[in-house]
Amino acid sequence: MTVTVFRKIIVFATPIFLIIFSRLAIPYIAGLPPAKYELALATPYLISFIGMFMAANFRRGRPFFALVLIITGYWTCRTYLPTGIQGIEGKSIFNTLSLFIPFNILLLAAMREKGLFSAAGRIRMVFFALQALIALILHDNHHLADLPNIFHSPLLAGIFDRITFAQIPLLAFVFELIAVMAIAIIRQAPVDSGLFGAMISFFIAGNWLTTPNMLVVFSSSAAIIVTVSILQDFYNMAFRDELTNVPSRRALNEQLHGIGRNYALAMVDIDHFKKFNDTYGHDIGDQVLKLVAKKLQNVTGGGKVYRYGGEEFTILFPRKNAEETLEHLESIRKEIAEYPLVIRNSDRPKNKRQGKQNRGRVDGGITTNVTVSIGVADSNGGEISKHEVIKTADNALYKAKNRGRNQVCK
Ligand code: GH3
Ligand code: MG
Ligand code: MG
Repeated sequence: MTVTVFRKIIVFATPIFLIIFSRLAIPYIAGLPPAKYELALATPYLISFIGMFMAANFRRGRPFFALVLIITGYWTCRTYLPTGIQGIEGKSIFNTLSLFIPFNILLLAAMREKGLFSAAGRIRMVFFALQALIALILHDNHHLADLPNIFHSPLLAGIFDRITFAQIPLLAFVFELIAVMAIAIIRQAPVDSGLFGAMISFFIAGNWLTTPNMLVVFSSSAAIIVTVSILQDFYNMAFRDELTNVPSRRALNEQLHGIGRNYALAMVDIDHFKKFNDTYGHDIGDQVLKLVAKKLQNVTGGGKVYRYGGEEFTILFPRKNAEETLEHLESIRKEIAEYPLVIRNSDRPKNKRQGKQNRGRVDGGITTNVTVSIGVADSNGGEISKHEVIKTADNALYKAKNRGRNQVCK
């Protein structure tokens, strides 16, 4: 349980680390000589432009627009609120920013990635431009500036008074932040946790607007977090399998480069999977592949799972010989073979809980299962080349297939 929770919240590690790092950078920035300080003030732009360039190259609309928001917020604060929130005009500008920016970050988090120059991307650009227009209209109607403070109860005022944000933007922010956090936890994708980090940075920058250097440091932090998330996303794209979310064959090759002399490698292949696809359809086949990948990851003995291709997986055991992996492979083989798969024709579970309730019940559909065959080989203390180890494991796999499948062979 604790391990699962930890695995889920680890997505926030990078943004939180970068936020702490940014906080530590403040005294350093404050001590810079004037010429360098002027340069430091350009950091949020510089990083955002680098990030936008990368996002455009990778066709990533969501982080691109997030960086546009960050630049807009920083530029507006530096231009119109250099001495903090002064008078009705200052209030109006700050309220507009604090309502629009977090709301748009939430929108970006809720959206699916649809590219930047695609039709969907262009519609989004128009949408952002329209908002800028609305913001300008709001700006010309300063009398609206006090509207966000609608709660006059002294109890609430006591809480709200410590915070720079007006009441409505603050409440909206809290809900939006929780929503973005939930999305990041569910999706487990770097860009979503990056958006969460950008939101926290935005809050810190906005709330301590007049504390020296907070604005520049936390605008930079937001830009860095989003930019780093683009890199992480790109890394995942290259090294993770999209369907099963386990590391890909490319990751396996990388790993094999750096592995020591002693290791064992197992090839896992689903039995009669073609027939399974033909019977239940490709989509259900995909679901089963995901499930098998998930089950395989429970393997003990320090094995790491990769999708080798198609319905074949590889499990790599560093510092083990083939003999030592047999018990671990055998127990994972058994676990998969004994797991009941409930196939529903049309009424597939709409949520996880319902899926769990239905599992094992026959009335929801047909209960079936899949089995896997496994072949394992080792490096024999570094005697055998990587290519040969894979080939030997493959041969062992065919042995397992020939002997009737659903078994482990060496
Ligand atoms: P064997 O027991 O000998 O391994 O039989 P098999 O049918 O599993 O073997 P074969 O390698 O001939 O067929 C593999 C099948 O796996 C072919 C294809 O239909 C299916 N497959 C490969 N990749 C995917 C995928 O990504 N999704 C789905 N749904 N099916 C896949
Ligand atoms: Mg195969
Ligand atoms: Mg197969």
